[in-house]
Amino acid sequence: MKERCREVLQRAYLFLDEEVLSIEERTQIQVHLDECAPCLEHYGLEREFVLATSRLKGRDECPQKLKAKIQTLLEEA
Ligand SMILES: [Zn+2]
Repeated sequence: MKERCREVLQRAYLFLDEEVLSIEERTQIQVHLDECAPCLEHYGLEREFVLATSRLKGRDECPQKLKAKIQTLLEEA
């Protein structure tokens, strides 16, 4: 995975994790996803993760686990 992609995906994950990003940051992510198919694919996958996690909220599921999983995915890519 290219360094640029890694950077963008990490930001995208923050965004999906409901961290507040500036409009500029979100635009940068969007622009990159538009021109980088592998990242778009990754982003789609990740969206599933976040949806799954929010469904698990209120249970004992630890968000740290999800973060570790994401980290693993990033390292494998
Ligand atoms: Zn990319």
